[in-house]
Amino acid sequence: MKQLITIGLLSILGLSSKIVSAQIQLPIIDMHLHSYGEIWSKERYCFPEPCEKAQTVASDGAQLLSLTIEQMDKQNIVLGVLSGHDYELNTTWVDVDPRFLFGYLVYEPDEIDLEHLNEDIEERKIKIMGEITSQYKGYSMNDPKLDTVFSIAEANDLPVLVHCAGLGGSSHFPIEKGNPVSLNDVIRKHPKLRLYVENAAWPFGDEMIALMYTNPNVYADLSTISWIIPRTTFHSYLRKLVDAGLSDRLMFGSDQMIWPESIDIAIDAINSADFLSDKQKRDIFYNNAARFLKLSQEDIDKHHNRIKATSD
Ligand SMILES: [Zn+2]
Repeated sequence: MKQLITIGLLSILGLSSKIVSAQIQLPIIDMHLHSYGEIWSKERYCFPEPCEKAQTVASDGAQLLSLTIEQMDKQNIVLGVLSGHDYELNTTWVDVDPRFLFGYLVYEPDEIDLEHLNEDIEERKIKIMGEITSQYKGYSMNDPKLDTVFSIAEANDLPVLVHCAGLGGSSHFPIEKGNPVSLNDVIRKHPKLRLYVENAAWPFGDEMIALMYTNPNVYADLSTISWIIPRTTFHSYLRKLVDAGLSDRLMFGSDQMIWPESIDIAIDAINSADFLSDKQKRDIFYNNAARFLKLSQEDIDKHHNRIKATSD
């Protein structure tokens, strides 16, 4: 489904009897973006397979920010969860564009400055707890060292983004640590937690379905897998979740990292899923995230009233 609806406006604007067409571009919420100051690879990857066009890699941090904003403008992304290893840099991005929601990235739980974290939550600077990337350091999600983070998020009603996937990537990240079943312990202990799981925990589909069935407040994003794995593999995983009745808890995310064009590719991955209804696509692109983030009706109306372009 194209995110554009063309409407005809007769001369209500006093522009003669000619039909004026305006394109309303429906809003999208990106639940998974990152800030980087240094570009850690020059590799122009070409995902998904089969390769059509290699993605542009940002030349430096400033260009990454400007190209990310360019993509957000083009796709009418009205909000984007932003996390980054560099706290100050993340702050700068949020200051540059208020559409970014500050995400507090957690890597090594022992290194968290709790006083600072609590202050920033109190001042409402931090909007999301996450991404929690501690799996890369070898921690399971139910490791007691992460309990403080989940307790703070629950007490402050902060949404939590957890990295959870069966892709190792390093010797510190054994495959089993990506199994989302470990989150069941966390939710039992923190029943009010508003949790969403990156990549819908691909490829642990059965386990993710079990987790979401058991815990109705668990959501998932469709981020990196929407462009990094072969398109057919992504579609069959998405279909499995949708067939299980979970399309009202799946959310769009790009995880653009240093390749801003992956935002486009990730959107196309959803749009080209011909087994999804138009309503399911809108739910994934916007409605589910709006509910999960507890957006006000006023904000939702504002997001839907942005007219993209007028012509003819
Ligand atoms: Zn990420």
